[in-house]
Amino acid sequence: MKTPVPDYLDEVLDSLRNDTSGANADYIPELAEADPERFGMALTTTLGRTYAAGDADTEFSIQSISKPFAYAAAIIDRGLDHVLELVGVEPSGEAFNELSLEGDTHRPKNPMINAGAITTHSLLVGAEASQGDRVDRALTFFSRLAGRDLRVDERVCASELGSAHRNLAIAYMLRTYGIIDGDVPSVVEGYTRQCSILVSVRDLSVMAATLATGGIQPVTGERLMDPGVARHVMAVMAAAGMYDAAGDWLTRVGIPAKSGVAGGIVGVLPDRAGVGTFSPRLDSHGNSRRGRLVFERLSRDMGLHLFASD
Ligand code: GLU
Repeated sequence: MKTPVPDYLDEVLDSLRNDTSGANADYIPELAEADPERFGMALTTTLGRTYAAGDADTEFSIQSISKPFAYAAAIIDRGLDHVLELVGVEPSGEAFNELSLEGDTHRPKNPMINAGAITTHSLLVGAEASQGDRVDRALTFFSRLAGRDLRVDERVCASELGSAHRNLAIAYMLRTYGIIDGDVPSVVEGYTRQCSILVSVRDLSVMAATLATGGIQPVTGERLMDPGVARHVMAVMAAAGMYDAAGDWLTRVGIPAKSGVAGGIVGVLPDRAGVGTFSPRLDSHGNSRRGRLVFERLSRDMGLHLFASD
Protein backbone atom coordinates (compact mmCIF):
# COMPACT_ATOMS: atom_id res chain seq x y z
CA MET A 1 0.00 0.00 0.00
CA LYS A 2 1.22 3.51 -0.76
CA THR A 3 2.19 5.75 2.18
CA PRO A 4 -0.48 8.44 2.79
CA VAL A 5 0.83 11.94 1.95
CA PRO A 6 0.86 13.33 5.55
CA ASP A 7 2.88 10.32 6.79
CA TYR A 8 5.28 10.72 3.91
CA LEU A 9 5.81 14.43 4.67
CA ASP A 10 6.40 13.66 8.38
CA GLU A 11 8.90 11.00 7.41
CA VAL A 12 10.74 13.40 5.07
CA LEU A 13 11.10 15.98 7.86
CA ASP A 14 12.17 13.36 10.41
CA SER A 15 14.81 11.99 8.08
CA LEU A 16 16.40 15.45 7.69
CA ARG A 17 15.93 16.90 11.18
CA ASN A 18 19.40 15.85 12.30
CA ASP A 19 21.09 17.99 9.67
CA THR A 20 22.16 21.06 11.59
CA SER A 21 24.70 22.37 9.11
CA GLY A 22 24.60 25.96 7.90
CA ALA A 23 23.71 29.06 9.90
CA ASN A 24 20.93 31.63 10.26
CA ALA A 25 21.37 34.79 8.19
CA ASP A 26 23.09 37.32 10.42
CA TYR A 27 23.20 40.51 8.36
CA ILE A 28 19.65 41.23 9.55
CA PRO A 29 19.90 41.07 13.38
CA GLU A 30 16.31 39.85 13.90
CA LEU A 31 16.90 36.83 11.65
CA ALA A 32 20.00 35.82 13.59
CA GLU A 33 17.71 35.48 16.65
CA ALA A 34 15.23 33.07 15.00
CA ASP A 35 14.94 29.55 16.45
CA PRO A 36 17.17 27.49 14.10
CA GLU A 37 15.38 24.23 14.94
CA ARG A 38 12.09 25.26 13.32
CA PHE A 39 11.28 22.97 10.43
CA GLY A 40 8.07 22.76 8.46
CA MET A 41 6.67 22.06 5.05
CA ALA A 42 3.37 22.19 3.19
CA LEU A 43 2.16 21.08 -0.21
CA THR A 44 -1.02 22.42 -1.86
CA THR A 45 -2.43 20.72 -4.93
CA THR A 46 -3.94 22.62 -7.85
CA LEU A 47 -7.32 21.33 -6.57
CA GLY A 48 -6.76 23.32 -3.36
CA ARG A 49 -5.97 20.52 -0.93
CA THR A 50 -3.14 21.28 1.53
CA TYR A 51 -0.95 18.69 3.28
CA ALA A 52 1.36 19.98 6.00
CA ALA A 53 4.01 18.68 8.42
CA GLY A 54 6.17 20.05 11.23
CA ASP A 55 6.07 23.80 11.99
CA ALA A 56 3.53 24.47 9.28
CA ASP A 57 1.93 27.50 10.94
CA THR A 58 5.06 29.24 12.24
CA GLU A 59 5.32 32.69 10.67
CA PHE A 60 8.56 34.05 9.26
CA SER A 61 9.38 36.99 6.99
CA ILE A 62 8.92 36.24 3.31
CA GLN A 63 12.12 38.12 2.31
CA SER A 64 13.22 37.29 -1.24
CA ILE A 65 10.30 34.91 -1.78
CA SER A 66 8.32 38.15 -2.20
CA LYS A 67 10.24 38.81 -5.43
CA PRO A 68 8.39 36.52 -7.89
CA PHE A 69 5.00 37.56 -6.53
CA ALA A 70 5.81 41.29 -6.60
CA TYR A 71 7.14 40.75 -10.13
CA ALA A 72 3.77 39.25 -11.12
CA ALA A 73 2.00 42.27 -9.60
CA ALA A 74 4.29 44.71 -11.44
CA ILE A 75 3.58 42.96 -14.75
CA ILE A 76 -0.16 43.13 -14.06
CA ASP A 77 0.08 46.82 -13.09
CA ARG A 78 2.48 48.09 -15.76
CA GLY A 79 2.46 45.52 -18.58
CA LEU A 80 5.21 43.03 -19.44
CA ASP A 81 6.83 45.23 -22.11
CA HIS A 82 7.33 48.11 -19.72
CA VAL A 83 8.72 45.86 -16.99
CA LEU A 84 11.12 44.20 -19.46
CA GLU A 85 12.46 47.59 -20.50
CA LEU A 86 13.67 48.07 -16.94
CA VAL A 87 14.46 44.55 -15.64
CA GLY A 88 16.03 41.68 -17.64
CA VAL A 89 15.39 37.93 -17.41
CA GLU A 90 18.93 36.54 -17.57
CA PRO A 91 20.40 34.48 -14.73
CA SER A 92 23.09 36.57 -13.09
CA GLY A 93 25.21 33.81 -11.57
CA GLU A 94 26.01 36.30 -8.85
CA ALA A 95 25.03 36.74 -5.23
CA PHE A 96 21.58 38.18 -4.51
CA ASN A 97 22.92 41.54 -3.41
CA GLU A 98 25.58 42.09 -6.06
CA LEU A 99 26.02 45.67 -7.24
CA SER A 100 25.87 44.89 -10.94
CA LEU A 101 23.71 45.90 -13.92
CA GLU A 102 23.72 44.88 -17.59
CA GLY A 103 26.53 46.72 -19.36
CA ASP A 104 24.58 48.24 -22.24
CA THR A 105 21.06 48.83 -20.89
CA HIS A 106 21.96 49.29 -17.22
CA ARG A 107 18.96 47.10 -16.42
CA PRO A 108 19.27 44.76 -13.44
CA LYS A 109 19.82 41.27 -14.88
CA ASN A 110 16.68 39.73 -13.42
CA PRO A 111 13.93 40.40 -10.86
CA MET A 112 15.20 37.75 -8.41
CA ILE A 113 18.32 39.65 -7.36
CA ASN A 114 17.94 42.71 -5.17
CA ALA A 115 18.65 45.26 -7.92
CA GLY A 116 15.82 43.78 -10.00
CA ALA A 117 13.49 43.36 -7.05
CA ILE A 118 13.96 46.95 -5.86
CA THR A 119 13.10 48.07 -9.41
CA THR A 120 10.09 45.74 -9.54
CA HIS A 121 8.85 47.09 -6.22
CA SER A 122 9.21 50.66 -7.51
CA LEU A 123 6.94 49.78 -10.46
CA LEU A 124 3.98 48.61 -8.36
CA VAL A 125 0.62 50.35 -8.91
CA GLY A 126 1.73 53.21 -11.20
CA ALA A 127 4.14 56.08 -11.79
CA GLU A 128 2.56 58.35 -9.18
CA ALA A 129 2.23 55.73 -6.42
CA SER A 130 3.46 56.51 -2.90
CA GLN A 131 5.44 54.12 -0.72
CA GLY A 132 2.21 53.35 1.15
CA ASP A 133 0.40 52.52 -2.11
CA ARG A 134 3.14 50.13 -3.20
CA VAL A 135 3.36 48.32 0.13
CA ASP A 136 -0.40 48.09 0.25
CA ARG A 137 -0.44 46.58 -3.23
CA ALA A 138 2.11 43.93 -2.24
CA LEU A 139 0.30 43.15 1.01
CA THR A 140 -3.13 42.93 -0.60
CA PHE A 141 -1.91 40.84 -3.53
CA PHE A 142 0.07 38.43 -1.33
CA SER A 143 -2.97 38.12 0.99
CA ARG A 144 -5.22 37.17 -1.91
CA LEU A 145 -2.62 34.67 -3.11
CA ALA A 146 -2.41 33.12 0.37
CA GLY A 147 -6.15 33.35 1.04
CA ARG A 148 -5.80 35.16 4.38
CA ASP A 149 -4.86 38.63 5.65
CA LEU A 150 -1.08 38.88 5.95
CA ARG A 151 0.82 41.59 7.87
CA VAL A 152 4.23 43.25 8.01
CA ASP A 153 6.61 42.34 10.87
CA GLU A 154 7.68 45.83 11.93
CA ARG A 155 10.53 44.51 14.09
CA VAL A 156 12.15 42.65 11.19
CA CYS A 157 11.60 45.66 8.94
CA ALA A 158 13.21 48.08 11.42
CA SER A 159 16.06 45.64 12.02
CA GLU A 160 16.81 45.38 8.30
CA LEU A 161 16.44 49.12 7.68
CA GLY A 162 19.05 49.75 10.35
CA SER A 163 21.64 48.01 8.18
CA ALA A 164 20.28 48.49 4.65
CA HIS A 165 23.39 50.23 3.33
CA ARG A 166 23.91 47.78 0.54
CA ASN A 167 20.35 47.96 -0.77
CA LEU A 168 20.57 51.77 -0.56
CA ALA A 169 23.77 51.65 -2.61
CA ILE A 170 22.07 49.43 -5.19
CA ALA A 171 19.05 51.75 -5.33
CA TYR A 172 21.18 54.90 -5.73
CA MET A 173 22.97 53.15 -8.59
CA LEU A 174 19.59 52.36 -10.19
CA ARG A 175 18.50 55.98 -9.69
CA THR A 176 21.70 57.24 -11.33
CA TYR A 177 20.89 55.27 -14.48
CA GLY A 178 17.23 56.29 -14.49
CA ILE A 179 15.99 52.74 -13.83
CA ILE A 180 14.05 53.88 -10.77
CA ASP A 181 12.91 57.36 -9.89
CA GLY A 182 11.63 59.14 -6.82
CA ASP A 183 13.07 59.23 -3.34
CA VAL A 184 15.64 56.41 -3.00
CA PRO A 185 15.36 55.77 0.79
CA SER A 186 11.59 55.62 0.45
CA VAL A 187 11.79 53.00 -2.35
CA VAL A 188 14.21 50.89 -0.25
CA GLU A 189 11.95 51.23 2.78
CA GLY A 190 8.95 50.06 0.73
CA TYR A 191 10.93 47.11 -0.65
CA THR A 192 12.09 46.19 2.86
CA ARG A 193 8.48 46.31 4.12
CA GLN A 194 7.51 43.98 1.27
CA CYS A 195 10.29 41.59 2.41
CA SER A 196 9.03 41.77 6.02
CA ILE A 197 5.55 40.38 5.29
CA LEU A 198 4.95 37.36 7.50
CA VAL A 199 3.98 34.02 5.99
CA SER A 200 3.87 30.34 6.95
CA VAL A 201 4.80 27.39 4.74
CA ARG A 202 1.07 26.77 4.39
CA ASP A 203 0.70 30.28 2.89
CA LEU A 204 3.66 29.76 0.59
CA SER A 205 2.31 26.47 -0.72
CA VAL A 206 -1.04 28.08 -1.60
CA MET A 207 0.69 31.08 -3.21
CA ALA A 208 2.81 28.74 -5.30
CA ALA A 209 -0.18 26.56 -6.18
CA THR A 210 -1.74 29.72 -7.67
CA LEU A 211 1.19 29.91 -10.08
CA ALA A 212 0.88 26.16 -10.73
CA THR A 213 -2.75 26.54 -11.87
CA GLY A 214 -1.80 29.35 -14.22
CA GLY A 215 -3.16 32.08 -11.96
CA ILE A 216 -6.28 30.75 -10.21
CA GLN A 217 -6.05 30.65 -6.41
CA PRO A 218 -7.03 27.01 -5.90
CA VAL A 219 -8.81 27.48 -2.55
CA THR A 220 -10.86 30.65 -3.22
CA GLY A 221 -11.21 30.04 -6.97
CA GLU A 222 -10.27 33.67 -7.69
CA ARG A 223 -8.28 34.40 -10.86
CA LEU A 224 -5.32 36.53 -9.73
CA MET A 225 -3.24 36.66 -12.90
CA ASP A 226 -3.40 35.56 -16.52
CA PRO A 227 -1.78 32.23 -17.43
CA GLY A 228 0.87 34.08 -19.47
CA VAL A 229 1.97 36.04 -16.39
CA ALA A 230 2.18 32.87 -14.27
CA ARG A 231 4.18 31.12 -16.98
CA HIS A 232 6.60 34.03 -17.30
CA VAL A 233 7.14 34.22 -13.53
CA MET A 234 7.73 30.45 -13.21
CA ALA A 235 10.24 30.56 -16.07
CA VAL A 236 12.21 33.36 -14.39
CA MET A 237 12.13 31.43 -11.11
CA ALA A 238 13.56 28.39 -12.90
CA ALA A 239 16.31 30.49 -14.48
CA ALA A 240 17.28 32.69 -11.55
CA GLY A 241 15.36 31.83 -8.36
CA MET A 242 18.13 30.23 -6.33
CA TYR A 243 20.77 32.93 -6.19
CA ASP A 244 24.12 31.86 -7.57
CA ALA A 245 23.11 28.19 -7.23
CA ALA A 246 20.29 28.43 -9.81
CA GLY A 247 21.90 26.11 -12.37
CA ASP A 248 22.84 23.52 -9.77
CA TRP A 249 19.27 23.65 -8.37
CA LEU A 250 17.63 23.33 -11.79
CA THR A 251 19.70 20.31 -12.76
CA ARG A 252 19.56 18.54 -9.39
CA VAL A 253 16.07 19.44 -8.14
CA GLY A 254 14.38 20.62 -11.34
CA ILE A 255 11.56 22.54 -9.66
CA PRO A 256 11.14 26.33 -10.26
CA ALA A 257 11.74 27.82 -6.84
CA LYS A 258 12.64 30.92 -4.83
CA SER A 259 14.36 31.08 -1.50
CA GLY A 260 14.52 33.80 1.15
CA VAL A 261 17.13 34.61 3.79
CA ALA A 262 14.70 33.96 6.66
CA GLY A 263 14.85 30.27 5.67
CA GLY A 264 11.80 29.82 3.46
CA ILE A 265 11.73 28.20 0.02
CA VAL A 266 8.75 28.15 -2.32
CA GLY A 267 8.58 25.72 -5.25
CA VAL A 268 6.08 25.32 -8.09
CA LEU A 269 5.19 22.11 -9.87
CA PRO A 270 3.31 23.40 -12.92
CA ASP A 271 -0.20 21.89 -13.19
CA ARG A 272 0.36 19.88 -10.01
CA ALA A 273 1.17 21.66 -6.76
CA GLY A 274 2.86 24.39 -4.78
CA VAL A 275 5.36 23.58 -2.01
CA GLY A 276 6.64 25.70 0.88
CA THR A 277 9.44 24.79 3.30
CA PHE A 278 10.93 26.59 6.30
CA SER A 279 14.18 25.99 8.17
CA PRO A 280 16.35 29.01 9.11
CA ARG A 281 19.88 27.63 8.69
CA LEU A 282 21.30 28.64 5.30
CA ASP A 283 23.98 27.06 3.13
CA SER A 284 26.87 28.98 1.60
CA HIS A 285 24.63 30.23 -1.25
CA GLY A 286 22.08 31.66 1.19
CA ASN A 287 19.50 28.91 0.57
CA SER A 288 17.85 27.02 3.44
CA ARG A 289 19.94 23.91 3.95
CA ARG A 290 17.19 21.55 5.14
CA GLY A 291 14.70 23.16 2.73
CA ARG A 292 16.96 22.25 -0.13
CA LEU A 293 17.23 18.67 1.12
CA VAL A 294 13.42 18.42 1.32
CA PHE A 295 13.11 19.54 -2.30
CA GLU A 296 15.79 17.05 -3.37
CA ARG A 297 13.82 14.26 -1.68
CA LEU A 298 10.49 15.29 -3.22
CA SER A 299 12.05 15.57 -6.63
CA ARG A 300 13.61 12.12 -6.35
CA ASP A 301 10.84 10.20 -4.58
CA MET A 302 7.94 11.63 -6.53
CA GLY A 303 9.64 12.09 -9.90
CA LEU A 304 8.96 15.83 -9.85
CA HIS A 305 11.98 17.01 -11.81
CA LEU A 306 10.66 19.21 -14.63
CA PHE A 307 12.73 17.37 -17.19
CA ALA A 308 12.15 13.83 -15.93
CA SER A 309 10.94 11.69 -18.78
CA ASP A 310 9.63 8.75 -16.76
N1 GLU B 1 15.32 41.73 2.38
C1 GLU B 1 16.47 40.98 2.02
C2 GLU B 1 17.50 41.86 1.31
O1 GLU B 1 17.10 42.63 0.49
C3 GLU B 1 16.06 39.84 1.17
C4 GLU B 1 17.23 39.00 0.77
C5 GLU B 1 16.88 37.59 0.51
O2 GLU B 1 15.94 37.00 1.05
O3 GLU B 1 17.62 37.00 -0.29
O4 GLU B 1 18.67 41.85 1.59
